[in-house]
Amino acid sequence: MSVEVKVNSTVISLVKGDITLEETDAIVNAANSRLAGGGGVDGAIHRAGGPGIMEECRKIGGCSTGSAVITTGGRLKARHVIHAVGPVYRDGNHGEPEALKGAYRRSLELTVENGLKTVAFPSISTGAYGYPIAEAARVALKTVIEFVRGRKELELVRFVLFSEGDFNRYREVLEEISGKNA
Ligand code: ADP
Repeated sequence: MSVEVKVNSTVISLVKGDITLEETDAIVNAANSRLAGGGGVDGAIHRAGGPGIMEECRKIGGCSTGSAVITTGGRLKARHVIHAVGPVYRDGNHGEPEALKGAYRRSLELTVENGLKTVAFPSISTGAYGYPIAEAARVALKTVIEFVRGRKELELVRFVLFSEGDFNRYREVLEEISGKNA
């Protein structure tokens, strides 16, 4: 199950799967602001990558909502993990779209700043943090498309969606916005 579009020189792809298995240069974690680990994709990444990633997170200390920090990938195939902190969703009127956009944008900046070419994202904030999936997909995909337009550094930005339902929502939104803008 996969879909892709090309925007400028970057392939944006959607796949259904488990992000801990990705072989991109970096994978993004949906972290919390204490970088303390937890359930969902965060727990899965720390389990798969081993304790070294948490040691690095402890040294960094934390990360504000709407931003991201980078560590190594420990035992993962990906050489780096970017820990992005998305917002907890309340009603959409408490800065959630801006914070979600910031989490994606800072992750993309860190990818480029570290000379990396390929990065994989989970659907940030749409699990325990409760962000409605279609709205989150729109913010995520628009932010990525806006970022890669007019740049050449990134070869691949992939979204790894954990369920078929999430994959289908992202696909619908990508078809809608790439039809208009890409
Ligand atoms: P948040 O707290 O930001 O909402 P969660 O980890 O609870 O983060 O959920 C974010 C998304 O990650 C959810 O859609 C969830 O289904 C998904 N997810 C959980 N495990 C994995 C995994 N191994 N690979 C990719 N996505 C995952």
